[in-house]
Amino acid sequence: MNVEEIVAKVSAYRPETNLDLIRRAYSYAETKHRNQLRDSGEPYMEHPAATAFLLADMQLGATSISAALLHDVLEDTDTKLEDLRAEFGDEVARLVDGVTKLSRMQFKDKREQQVESYRKMFVAMANDVRVVLIKLADRLHNMRTLKHTDREKQVRVAQETLDIYAPLAHRLGIWRWKWEFEDLALLFKDPDTYYSLAVQVAKGRAEREGIIEEAKKTLAALMQEAGITAEISGRPKHFYSIYQKMISQERQLSEIWDLMGLRVIVDTVHECYSALGAIHTYWKPIPGKFKDYIAMPKTNMYQSLHTTVIGTGGEPLEIQIRTWDMHRTAEYGIAAHWKYKEHTTGRTDTFEEKMAWLRQMIEIQKESNDSSEFMDTLKMDLSSDEVYVFTPQGDVKVLPQGATPIDFAYHVHTNVGHKCAGAKVNSKLVPLSTELRTGDIVEILTNKASQGPSRDWLKIAKSTRARSKIRAFMKEQSRKERLELGKEMLEKELRRYELEVHSSMKEERLDEEAKKSGYSGMDELLLSIGYGKLSPTAVVSRLYPEKFPEPELKLKKASSVQAISKGVVVSGLEGCLVRFAKCCSPVPEEPIVGFITRGRGVSVHRADCEEGKLIMASEPERQVSVSWSKAMRGLYQVSIEIIGKDRSGFLNDVTRIIAEMEVALVSASAKAYKSGTAKVHVRLEIRDINYLNAIMTKMRKIQGVEEVTRI
Ligand code: MN
Repeated sequence: MNVEEIVAKVSAYRPETNLDLIRRAYSYAETKHRNQLRDSGEPYMEHPAATAFLLADMQLGATSISAALLHDVLEDTDTKLEDLRAEFGDEVARLVDGVTKLSRMQFKDKREQQVESYRKMFVAMANDVRVVLIKLADRLHNMRTLKHTDREKQVRVAQETLDIYAPLAHRLGIWRWKWEFEDLALLFKDPDTYYSLAVQVAKGRAEREGIIEEAKKTLAALMQEAGITAEISGRPKHFYSIYQKMISQERQLSEIWDLMGLRVIVDTVHECYSALGAIHTYWKPIPGKFKDYIAMPKTNMYQSLHTTVIGTGGEPLEIQIRTWDMHRTAEYGIAAHWKYKEHTTGRTDTFEEKMAWLRQMIEIQKESNDSSEFMDTLKMDLSSDEVYVFTPQGDVKVLPQGATPIDFAYHVHTNVGHKCAGAKVNSKLVPLSTELRTGDIVEILTNKASQGPSRDWLKIAKSTRARSKIRAFMKEQSRKERLELGKEMLEKELRRYELEVHSSMKEERLDEEAKKSGYSGMDELLLSIGYGKLSPTAVVSRLYPEKFPEPELKLKKASSVQAISKGVVVSGLEGCLVRFAKCCSPVPEEPIVGFITRGRGVSVHRADCEEGKLIMASEPERQVSVSWSKAMRGLYQVSIEIIGKDRSGFLNDVTRIIAEMEVALVSASAKAYKSGTAKVHVRLEIRDINYLNAIMTKMRKIQGVEEVTRI
């Protein structure tokens, strides 16, 4: 095929288009592919030329035709993308680049889920529907010439065509390509079945053709009578659809009666319904076989009226009725609706193109049937919130936009994630924070000795899966640390009582003890110690009751058992935690009362605390005797409020006293009111009540002070 055949074809439907661009593309490609041969032995240029011709058949513009002519130069010759851009402009270069990227994708015979991912990835990578169209034409010509390749490749390519290309042609509504893909794929995948079908179909052909000829004549007469100008044609069924029908309906070929059908093409929608009326008046329609795809188009924009009637000889007759517009849509699909802005017009409105593409996709998607899911994803791909990347083995992983090698690693396997030490993207070492892009081939380098994910990874990972795995690891880590701590504390306690550590720490023994105390097992018991919820002494006392004359963890009046915590001695209890009540913040030396809370140790109030009194009154049996320990001293925080006449130096006097008493000041704030009053709040760290009283006494002596209170 030479360039003038293509140019003649294009100029027939677009005489004003940039035919020179096509000529230049042809000769450029021809030079680049010189001396290369196809498997058939033909010059290589036959292939791009045939691909371009297929697109001319679809009435695409000069840009797409030129890109089709150049579609293999990046992959198969020394041409660089920049060369193409310089020579033919950005748009052609971009299309060729897109086709080349798709060609580099490795499809394999996979589970349905993977196949679906491939299809999605295909569309996501294509980014421009023209890239898909060029790729489909490329594949169609390759299928037509597949007989020249070896058997193994034929089967592989045929399967891939059934998995990817035929469904895509179907989704885009390009019936003629879809049928050809399927029939050719069947031929190469399963030649025996194909030829046996062909023989069987041929058998009754003469008879069927006779019937169809008769029906055509009758139909023509009917249309003339109704005053409708119509073109009537016999419509052969495609082998693959017969094959599928035989499989899905488990029928013999002889039982499939609609091997042939009739098609009526008219000028207007109105005439479609008129024609239908005339047909139904003459022949009896078979109930349930009428479908109005004009009122309700299929997802891929297909429109027609379908009916099956009982023919003159009693045989079923399938008839399709459509307008010329609908016919073009049916044959060419999306290409029929897609008016590309030509490169030569000097401006390419990418946004408008994108929007139009999106609009059409949404339009297609409105009517939902089995293909709606694909359309959903197609739409999603366009809003680009997913990226599709490969493992080195060619598996596709779907990740959220912005995903990094860490996300990828966790999608391969949790352990690959945990042991991830580095990554290669398209064979190059990259930082783990690198954003992945659709089409990237990602390889994870693992290190068996790796300590696991770092906290930083949570900032890098984008997918829910990776993040939750990292979090789970972190949680497990901290659990391990607490467990270790609990173990150490218990061992230390055992040594303190000079008990045998090894035998005491045996799992069976601790498990038994844990269950007695209501824990699920040893680990939970040790964790409880590690988290400070359980005192190791309590555990030791239960393991060795003989060492503890009063072992029970319950209140015993006048008992010698006591617990010391935070400088407070609790009588009658051991191994318990002490908390200072927030309402009154008691300090050493002042009278205190203790109260056994539910599950949070002993709460200590000042004896004069109102809240404390209230609690004691309601549950007196929970009161416990507490006192300040002489041995252990800590620092206690207390807040004081000083109210007085506002004057300069007021706050200064307060802080001076605090400094003189050598007390640590935690915080201080002062407020002056319009009434002339000043309020100072200080929070101090003091040793005991004597200190506090001394400070408060001193403060009361400050000039103008009216009131000093603890709050
Ligand atoms: Mn090619």
